Amino acid sequence: MNPTTDIQGKAEAVTASNAGQSVAWTEAEARDLYDLPLPELLFRAQTLHRRHFDPTEVETATLLSIKTGGCPEDCGYCSQSTHHKTGVKATKLMEVDSVLAEARKAREAGATRFCMGAAWRSPKDRDLDSVCRMIEGVRALGLETCVTLGMLAPDQVRRLGDAGLDYYNHNIDTSRAHYPRIATTRTMDDRLDTLSLVRKGGIKLCSGGIVGMGETVDDRIAMLVILANLAPPPESVPLNMWNAIPGTPVMDRAEPATPIAFVRLVALARLLMPASVVRLSAGRHAMSDEWQALCFLAGANSIFTGDTLLTTGNPQRAQDAALLAAMGMRMAPGPVRSNAAVAGNLRSASPSTD
Ligand code: SF4
Repeated sequence: MNPTTDIQGKAEAVTASNAGQSVAWTEAEARDLYDLPLPELLFRAQTLHRRHFDPTEVETATLLSIKTGGCPEDCGYCSQSTHHKTGVKATKLMEVDSVLAEARKAREAGATRFCMGAAWRSPKDRDLDSVCRMIEGVRALGLETCVTLGMLAPDQVRRLGDAGLDYYNHNIDTSRAHYPRIATTRTMDDRLDTLSLVRKGGIKLCSGGIVGMGETVDDRIAMLVILANLAPPPESVPLNMWNAIPGTPVMDRAEPATPIAFVRLVALARLLMPASVVRLSAGRHAMSDEWQALCFLAGANSIFTGDTLLTTGNPQRAQDAALLAAMGMRMAPGPVRSNAAVAGNLRSASPSTD
């Protein structure tokens, strides 16, 4: 039997199960999809994308660093680690009122989700008191909430859930094989343990990775396979292009993905995790409009808006709005969810592989 026909059948099964809960992917299968001729790969990704989402809508989230720098972890890509000399100054945890003022600004600018990031290995319980008040306050503004705070203990997951947290971000960063070259103060299994705790706590997962850190194409694909096989996969999958940060160990071996290689990865994420929101995250300021447009065609349907992402640059919101308008697309007015009804309506007017 033709292997790509088999794989297509599997992708159809993922769609049928609606969230891919019972479908386990192998790296070889994922590689076969990744290597498809680009028109075929994009066609398949588009076909699945529009079954789950309105393909003209892009979710917008805003990210605020609520506690910057001074992190004891040694992630080789990060400007905020105390192990690297990057010039980033450590700050204290922001005051709750200041965070809520930023959330109000994000809401006025049109964001639907407000993400708060703290540079910790794991949060201290007293800090969690403030973070929980931030979550409650941001939710009261009508925004979805996401936090990234490092590794969590079960009781901390419960407290975040009680505060009403919608998403917890915890990236797996890269493949299992490449992980020890990226961080030594924690392991891939530490990451997966926290993701598992968060999932059991009823909080939605946001987890993805970074490309351009000296990994191979197979590493990138293996990373997506880990995420796709989480059963169910994360509801939100951020894909980052590593930002060149002088002073970090990754700087010496960084090799950016080509635009086509990145677009292929986005399409693969869409195929392996059709019900997940796929977010173009860090590194977007280095992408041309045409590159980003291809990513949207490949199934990306979320972006961060605002001119900074933690400590690095990001396109201006007006630039994003202009690109989406030129494509006849728009920023989603509310949270973006996999929606078979929306997809079904569009599907009748669309090409299909059925
Ligand atoms: S845990 Fe987060 S903040 Fe700390 S070094 Fe790693 S990526 Fe940076």
